[in-house]
Amino acid sequence: MTTPDFGFETLAIRAGQEPDPRTGAVIPAIYATSTYQQDGVGGLREGYEYSRTANPTRTALEQCLAALEHGSRGFAFASGMAAEDTLLRALCTPGDHVVIPNDAYGGTFRLFDKVLKTWGLDYSVAPIADVDAVRAAVEPGRTAVIWVETPTNPLLGIADIAGLAEVAHEAGALLVVDNTFASPYLQQPLALGADVVVHSTTKYCGGHSDVVGGAVVVDDDDLEDRIAFHQNAIGAVAGPFDSWLVLRGIRTLGVRMDRHCDNAERVVGFLLGRPEITDVIYPGLETHPGHVLATKQMKRFGGMVSFRHRGGEQAAVDVCNATRVFILGESLGGVESLIEHPGRMTHASAAGSPLEVPSDLVRLSVGIETADDLLADLAQALDQAGR
Ligand SMILES: *Cc1c(COP(=O)(O)O)cnc(C)c1O
Repeated sequence: MTTPDFGFETLAIRAGQEPDPRTGAVIPAIYATSTYQQDGVGGLREGYEYSRTANPTRTALEQCLAALEHGSRGFAFASGMAAEDTLLRALCTPGDHVVIPNDAYGGTFRLFDKVLKTWGLDYSVAPIADVDAVRAAVEPGRTAVIWVETPTNPLLGIADIAGLAEVAHEAGALLVVDNTFASPYLQQPLALGADVVVHSTTKYCGGHSDVVGGAVVVDDDDLEDRIAFHQNAIGAVAGPFDSWLVLRGIRTLGVRMDRHCDNAERVVGFLLGRPEITDVIYPGLETHPGHVLATKQMKRFGGMVSFRHRGGEQAAVDVCNATRVFILGESLGGVESLIEHPGRMTHASAAGSPLEVPSDLVRLSVGIETADDLLADLAQALDQAGR
């Protein structure tokens, strides 16, 4: 049995994952089953009835996620977006209002702007690093949720989780934190006062770019019931194979994150020495406006690094096209390093909106390869782009 007192790495390896009592199998089985035999009508074994409602492989992952975020219950979904959609329909009703960040994940903005708005959920955009601006955007009596990402994507802004939790609670709203970029290893929002944590487990939790998944974790009986009901009623659940892959990845989250952070620090140091780069964006830098806050609420500063190129959009695109170890691609959080041009790729749909990103921006998801290879690759790509 695991206890909440165990350290993070012990929980990652053991929570929800006791050896099978019958066979001793150390690793949870992939329960590829849709239904369960009942011992007489209504005689469910350990509550299992139908795999949309619950599946033992998914349960293992959900218990592990809850332990890592220090919540009372976790829920696993088919994708991060499925988690967000289910959560928002569990928390909000038509006519409600939400405050969302000016630097949100593009898919999250699209969900609010193109899907939930037509169902009557109204939103305002606020600069999430500014607690007073968020307070001003709240409409007491109508705002049901303040939605935060920290660090943000791709500009790595830092939101004050404890401060925003106060703003939300003063207004009778809930604070939801998308903890995808930090992962539970670097930041635990529930302990800072947030009501709900969301993850795209596709990213650091899974960590191997081999699965798409999402999660929600809460620490409140009423929220547990509402989300459990909607998870089953809507049905966008994580399947047993996907749950197993995320769980396999999550066991090494701690060691992976430390290496992501080590390598990101090396990359940042290298980029600071390159004259064609005008701005290196990383919360671990003292020059970052959210550095002090990040130091308080994060264990380390993560594996995501962004930078701006003096040569403008074309030079930024050229760098992305010229790397060989950094793979040109969307997504993040896997063991392999990725590079992308947010303006033309992940954030192309934000053009012309308050979420538009600078065109000379490059985003790196720094992987866990040999750091010297990453630096050499960036050096040759920057040299080529400068020609
Ligand atoms: C990727 C991502 C999502 C969406 O998750 P999917 O698994 O792609 O559906 C949400 N938030 C953040 C911060 C992300 O990076």
